Amino acid sequence: MISNRELFLRNTAQTSNSPRLIEVERAEGIYLYGPDDKRYMDLVSGFNVSNIGHRHPAVIEAIQQQLEKYLHVTVYGEFVQTPQVHFATELLACLPNSFESVYLTNSGAESVEGAMKLAKKFTGRRQIIAAHKAYHGSTQGALSLIGNEDYHRAYAPLLPDISFINFGAMPDLEMITTQTAAVIIEPIQGEAGVRVPSASYLQALRAKCTLTGTLLIFDEIQTGFGRTGRMFAFEHFDIVPDILLLAKGIGGGMPLGAFVAPKHMMDVFKDNPMLGHITTFGGHPVSCAAARASLQVIQKENLVDQVAHKAARFRQALAVPQIKEIRGLGLMMCLQLDNFDQVYAVSNYCATHGVMIDWYLHCETALRLAPPLTITEDEIDHACAIILAGIREVIVLKAC
Ligand code: PLP
Repeated sequence: MISNRELFLRNTAQTSNSPRLIEVERAEGIYLYGPDDKRYMDLVSGFNVSNIGHRHPAVIEAIQQQLEKYLHVTVYGEFVQTPQVHFATELLACLPNSFESVYLTNSGAESVEGAMKLAKKFTGRRQIIAAHKAYHGSTQGALSLIGNEDYHRAYAPLLPDISFINFGAMPDLEMITTQTAAVIIEPIQGEAGVRVPSASYLQALRAKCTLTGTLLIFDEIQTGFGRTGRMFAFEHFDIVPDILLLAKGIGGGMPLGAFVAPKHMMDVFKDNPMLGHITTFGGHPVSCAAARASLQVIQKENLVDQVAHKAARFRQALAVPQIKEIRGLGLMMCLQLDNFDQVYAVSNYCATHGVMIDWYLHCETALRLAPPLTITEDEIDHACAIILAGIREVIVLKAC
């Protein structure tokens, strides 16, 4: 009989020559389980998605309740669908007053696409500025913002009028002018290997955008929903962007994205032409019911307040010379090693010993750590023990 692995390789499109090939039978809390009941601790949260763990009971209950009512009923923006309305209302309640309107999408890249269109239509300008080593998604528009030449070359021509600044470099802010519609930036760069900028940099960026009438768009698709120790990362820096991009952790494990803006800005989609941005499945009612439940779990279980303490426990346990640097904020952490061979071997060691970690698109010399915020102290200790054993086997013993 052909195994599921073989069928996966043969019949589903592949995105690399070295997929992980872990077969998942079920998932619960911070664990994934294989068909042989082998258990893996998910230390990357399905790539910053499972902030409240897998299949949180409150999310499952909300999904089940919505399944009894309706699934898809019509395209986004026409009918009053209570899961959308309730989720948008509760999301806005977590945000500063300038955020008044939520556009619900299916994914992160779609939120990026919608926000780019919004910025162009609202400002009447065409230039968009992004940062080198950014990642904003894989659709043509979002890919145009990826600060990585290899991807540009391979899929050119991409969108025109996109310029790049170096993340964190004050002099580059001079590139922002009255011709610039928007700066789209991650407040903490994820795929660059978790780069946390200074508050003064982001404040200067905010000031330059305000001065030139440029919209500041924060991509919080990785950093949102408590990941960094605040509900949203911008809260660390004492500034507020004009548009906020959300996805990943928003849906409690269900596909959903959003871009959030002031109402008068969002209203430009309504006419000239009407239906300026539409989507069939965006804001799917089941995803919105899950997102509302997930947001309530984050709030009720005080998950955001626990992040700093849990992150400190990781940092303390992992303070060994072979880890050159631990970058990040809260539970968005990156362990800098020397080279990709070490990263690959340590992550394989960890997978074999039941701990899933990974690396980054633009930084293959560092290990990715983004556990569910629900991880307990004992689980942190166990995870760190496995990572340290991997480092000992791959780096320390090899050097002897
Ligand atoms: N923005 C950031 C910062 C991301 O990390 C990602 C995905 O990894 C995206 C946007 C795109 O999100 P999606 O994969 O849901 O399209």
